[in-house]
Amino acid sequence: MMVAALESGSVIDHIPTDKLFTIAQLLELENFKEEVVIANNLDSQIMTRKGLIKIAGKFFSEAEINKLAVVCPNIRLTVIKDYQVVEKRQVTLPDTLTNIVKCANPVCITNNEPMKTVFYRMDTQTLKCRYCGKEQKLKDIKLK
Ligand SMILES: [Zn+2]
Repeated sequence: MMVAALESGSVIDHIPTDKLFTIAQLLELENFKEEVVIANNLDSQIMTRKGLIKIAGKFFSEAEINKLAVVCPNIRLTVIKDYQVVEKRQVTLPDTLTNIVKCANPVCITNNEPMKTVFYRMDTQTLKCRYCGKEQKLKDIKLK
């Protein structure tokens, strides 16, 4: 395989090819000093084509993982330490998202006061603002 083994870090896998650069931007990969591998259009047995990002020395916080889940549900995260896979999981949208998403309602209190947003997951495609009750589709979501 063209991608060398990672000593320590994270691999995000099963990224839809059209989301790869959105995710690279979200993670601010241009600021990383360590090795970053971004690969697109790899053959996959699950999807016809997929993207992958490998980041040496990077371990994601839960908040970062939740951001990824909003932009791109169903990606897979693998955490590697000393060449060993220590964690492998499907990233899924959590029941509650705190301060990840911006409310689309301009008169919502979260857009007018310095406060954290809270959204509840209604289904796999819909979030609902805790404060104004506005439901928002995942595809239209703006990150905070
Ligand atoms: Zn709201």
